[in-house]
Amino acid sequence: MKNFQALGLSAGLAEAVQLIGFETPTPIQEKAIPLLLTGNRDFIGLAQTGTGKTAAFGLPLLELVDEDSSATQALVLAPTRELGLQIVSDLENFSEKFKKLNIVAIYGGASISEQIRKVKRGAQIVVATPGRLIDMLGRKAVNLSTIQYVVLDEADEMLNMGFKEDIDEILSKTPETKITWLFSATMPKEVRAIANNYMTEPVELTVGDKNTGNANIEHQYVVVHERDKYSALKRLLDFHPDIFGLIFCRTRIDTQRVAEMLMKDGYNADSLHGDLNQAQRDKVMMKFRNRSVQILVATDVAARGIDVDNITHVIHMNIPDEMEFYTHRSGRTARAGRKGVSIALVSPKETGKIRQIEKTVKTTFVRIQVPAGPEVCQKQLLALMKKVHDVKVNEAEIEAFLPAVYDELKDLTKNELIKRFASIEFNRFLDYYRNAPDLNVNASSSDRGAERYSTGDRFFINLGKMDNLEKADLLEMLDDCCNVGKKHIGKIDIKGAYSFFEVEKEKSDAIVSGLQGVEFEGRPVRVELTEGRRESSSKKSKGRSRSYEGGSSRRGAGRRR
Ligand code: AMP
Repeated sequence: MKNFQALGLSAGLAEAVQLIGFETPTPIQEKAIPLLLTGNRDFIGLAQTGTGKTAAFGLPLLELVDEDSSATQALVLAPTRELGLQIVSDLENFSEKFKKLNIVAIYGGASISEQIRKVKRGAQIVVATPGRLIDMLGRKAVNLSTIQYVVLDEADEMLNMGFKEDIDEILSKTPETKITWLFSATMPKEVRAIANNYMTEPVELTVGDKNTGNANIEHQYVVVHERDKYSALKRLLDFHPDIFGLIFCRTRIDTQRVAEMLMKDGYNADSLHGDLNQAQRDKVMMKFRNRSVQILVATDVAARGIDVDNITHVIHMNIPDEMEFYTHRSGRTARAGRKGVSIALVSPKETGKIRQIEKTVKTTFVRIQVPAGPEVCQKQLLALMKKVHDVKVNEAEIEAFLPAVYDELKDLTKNELIKRFASIEFNRFLDYYRNAPDLNVNASSSDRGAERYSTGDRFFINLGKMDNLEKADLLEMLDDCCNVGKKHIGKIDIKGAYSFFEVEKEKSDAIVSGLQGVEFEGRPVRVELTEGRRESSSKKSKGRSRSYEGGSSRRGAGRRR
């Protein structure tokens, strides 16, 4: 593998990069740097975040820009303030020895006059988010007529965020002769259109397969009912005590709700969403970056540009509506050659979407099981023991306290001591998980269920174990009275005094009318749609009364009287 100097970088820059700790170029750097250094070709780089693309365009840019001229020569457009600031910080780190070089960041949510002042002082490189740059252009505070290089970073994200018109306007103000480099994780037709409109015979380079996710990401999913998703999330978090994770929700409200519930349940979590102002967002990000927050719950939009290394898990509370969002979400882990895991919590209805993503992202998802209570306890216990094993003992200071401690514990054997010690924290988990149910939706029924009950209704019925009701009784009753056979019925959940069952939507009316006037073990049967939309009460229907008795042991013994 080549080193940075062999790629054509000057000795000074190659040394700066090495000092930062980059020993060998990443694949995109190895391919793109020699090409971009020529400074005469338009370029498209299809690369995920975390592949080292900032250095791939940043290092050539620093070589090509003339620091002796104060004209603005390079413009980098990025979708978010976070990404923009990260690019500026990387470029500044690489170019510490370029004393005359000014790199200015332009982004919303901060003082525009301060940014105008900085540009006016002379900025060879401007890194901007499109919206704020448009403001600056409106005030004639930036001159783009001297631009030689434009970099569009995370072009697909910029378009997703609705910056298409801004980008068009900005590019129209740059000279025809400029060279454009475009980076994108995915290549939807909108990005292709930008390339066609603004680039001349670009060299196209793909790191990995075009639409393929990062190969270092393991894609997993669990199938759980929507109502069990939060419990499943907690199980997964408890099963990975060292997690440093990002959790995605679809809406701001869900994001806030999940984060609040996690905090209430004692997890070290926080949330990032559009209702926060810039200062609040910065604060959350700082806490996450420096690990004082272990779990960040975020919306897709708010999490754009999150470039935190070492995220171990990305968890999706649901499958995003836009397939490309999945790539962006999961791409927040497994950065810079590390491994990462992406876990989607999928309801039976959503399982079809997994196949869709597999096709789009050309990857295979592995179905995993939500860990059972004892597995979680085992994991927690081992984590606790590891903590005990690795704890740094402050020999000098604890010494004075030990005699009293030894005295207090003198009647306990080593094994007793270990057992009690482990129990102190462990009991909490044992209690919580003692009767923990299996949250996994049965594999075969879930996949079939996804198709069958995607538009299903869930009914409450006023009969349960206390009435000797068993699943077989219910199925028989629905078949006999409503003419709704087993194949139209989904999950049945028999509780103590009542039960729930799922039915194909088309059969709901038949259930409501068919159970009118029916009795089970002398009790009038009452069903209700769980949303409370319709009800069939115990009112006896004219001329029709049927009776059932429960308990499958009595099955077949003349149940209809
Ligand atoms: P990027 O895709 O530019 O956001 O980079 C992702 C991460 O990889 C950042 O933390 C970079 O500092 C790091 N990185 C980039 N290039 C290299 C390299 N050649 N060797 C090691 N780390 C790198």
